[in-house]
Amino acid sequence: MIETSEFSIGDRIVSAEETEEDSALEKGLRPQSLTEYIGQDKVKENLAIYIEAARRRGAALDHVLLYGPPGLGKTTLAGIIAREMGVNLRITTGPAIERPGDLAAILTNLSPSDVLFIDEIHRLNRSVEEILYPALEDHAIDIIVGKGPSARSLRVDLPEFTLVGATTRAGQLSAPLRDRFGIVQRLELYTPEQLSDIIRRSSQILGIPCTLDGALELAKRSRGTPRIANRFLRRVRDFADVLGNGEITEEIARKALDRLEVDHLGLDSNDRRMLEMIIKGYSGGPVGLETLASALGEEAVTLEDVCEPFLMQLGFLARTPRGRCATALAYAHLGFPLPQGAGEVLPEQLTLADGAENE
Ligand code: ADP
Repeated sequence: MIETSEFSIGDRIVSAEETEEDSALEKGLRPQSLTEYIGQDKVKENLAIYIEAARRRGAALDHVLLYGPPGLGKTTLAGIIAREMGVNLRITTGPAIERPGDLAAILTNLSPSDVLFIDEIHRLNRSVEEILYPALEDHAIDIIVGKGPSARSLRVDLPEFTLVGATTRAGQLSAPLRDRFGIVQRLELYTPEQLSDIIRRSSQILGIPCTLDGALELAKRSRGTPRIANRFLRRVRDFADVLGNGEITEEIARKALDRLEVDHLGLDSNDRRMLEMIIKGYSGGPVGLETLASALGEEAVTLEDVCEPFLMQLGFLARTPRGRCATALAYAHLGFPLPQGAGEVLPEQLTLADGAENE
């Protein structure tokens, strides 16, 4: 029997989900402008053009949808968009807007050209989503006044505003909502070099001495995610204070993360358990995501959003139309002998799966 709490993503140091400690400390670390924002070059270049064009026209920026795994900088980008446009930023999340009235209250309080950021926008409920459509298209909402036979619909005009929606799963957005975003940008996992730059920037802001090699060692284990990189920096600082002279060197970084059970590629014990389950429990796969999730006592969504993007980037996991498979690389990393035929995923299976399952 697998202990579910053991696999709780919230407790993981490599979880990309935001913890309370993160949100308190992240505030001072968020880049304030596109030039300060490291990596995601394509997204930055596109946004810079759209922002400049909107500013020249004196109009609000078109609605923006940002998607990609948690912790990659979607909220940060929304803040940068508002700052570069010189307007206010209002932040909320899909699940926090329970009723159409909640959204109406937010929308009617916006000033012209303001940016409204809705995180987890795929979790908006249908009735709320429906009042969002005319707001996005016609800058107006229809409010029902009165009850029963005397109820009537009242159209309220809104200022022109920009909605920045963020989601980890663009595929779950309803088509009418997705179609209302003029700008759709996907954020990619960061390279170790980019993460190392992010760590060095944060170490300067926080006054934590860190060598180039130390930063790169943390970066390599941060599974492509700035939020995790910044968390490592704070955690490993304690090890540097106690085991060394306060400076994060390559050796200190290695020792600290080994002790935190994050291996040299950034996998923690839970990633290894997931791969081991596929290899030992299901002969390397394919195994359906739901089956795998219940075998591990974890939510399928969490596996899909948090574990899979990284394991797929490493080439350890493949999504096929029939389920998840461990690749030959995963067998090698975990030290399992590769049985005949296992770990082989045909290229055409991968292409099919990308189209069918990703978005
Ligand atoms: P998301 O909204 O995608 O979950 P956030 O915008 O909250 O992610 O980013 C998490 C943290 O990572 C931020 O506090 C910020 O300090 C850092 N961060 C994200 N992207 C970058 C970047 N491109 N450059 C520097 N720091 C970044």
